[in-house]
Amino acid sequence: MLRPEDRFRFDCHKGLDCFTQCCRDITIFLTPYDILRMKNALDISSEKFLADYTHTLVGENGIPVVALKMSDDEARSCPFVASDGCRIYPDRPWSCRIYPLQPESTKITEKAGRLYFSVMDVPFCKGFFEQRESTVHQWLEDQEVFVYMEMEQHFKKITQNPFLVDKIIANKKIQQMIHMACYDLDRFRRFVFDSSFLDQFDIESAEIEKIQTDDTALFQFAMKWLEYGLIGQQGLKVKPGVMAARKETLGIS
Ligand code: SF4
Ligand code: SF4
Repeated sequence: MLRPEDRFRFDCHKGLDCFTQCCRDITIFLTPYDILRMKNALDISSEKFLADYTHTLVGENGIPVVALKMSDDEARSCPFVASDGCRIYPDRPWSCRIYPLQPESTKITEKAGRLYFSVMDVPFCKGFFEQRESTVHQWLEDQEVFVYMEMEQHFKKITQNPFLVDKIIANKKIQQMIHMACYDLDRFRRFVFDSSFLDQFDIESAEIEKIQTDDTALFQFAMKWLEYGLIGQQGLKVKPGVMAARKETLGIS
């Protein structure tokens, strides 16, 4: 078990015989931020990215998860691998960046501000025989993993809320709402701007302007909406007139 200050030996480069061998026959679950970066790198919509490159599954807790669809060649290659490496390298998913490390922290250690990692055991990977030595922290920084960890916190904050822990989300509409907010950002943007959404919620005009074009801001906004919808947090506020009308419809004073 490694802490951020511990050292390990690993390097990866085109000169190794195993180059790109790790980009075949693997299961890669994509985080919401992975999808945001990958669909923008490919300059396609989230809908097209999800349809062409992913499978959606529903986890035991009812929360949808998205996995990268491997090509149907004999090697089950990643759709983005080419002979000279990853075609979307600057926007490769989190799990490709963090390799050969994997997180081992628990909710308890994270709460106490302690992160732990282990080194994966991949027998064909020659990178472990290279001379480069890094601390875990240096590796995460070099691979730009921290921004992915920060984005993941928005979603973890919701799923690890005591109100949702140990609950199973069985309602299909709620599952679709989670899927749209997390993974299908372009559809979420249309939902915000082409429905009565903005008439319902009190949102500052600067934020409205930002989420029109900035996907990262839109994702953060989508997480506030999920938080509001799933656990009733006050990240979003309903307009006073709307609340009064709702109370009247429900007969609440
Ligand atoms: S060194 Fe490991 S990570 Fe790098 S290409 Fe080879 S198998 Fe993949
Ligand atoms: S996304 Fe890139 S780095 Fe990750 S498996 Fe595919 S080709 Fe390899």
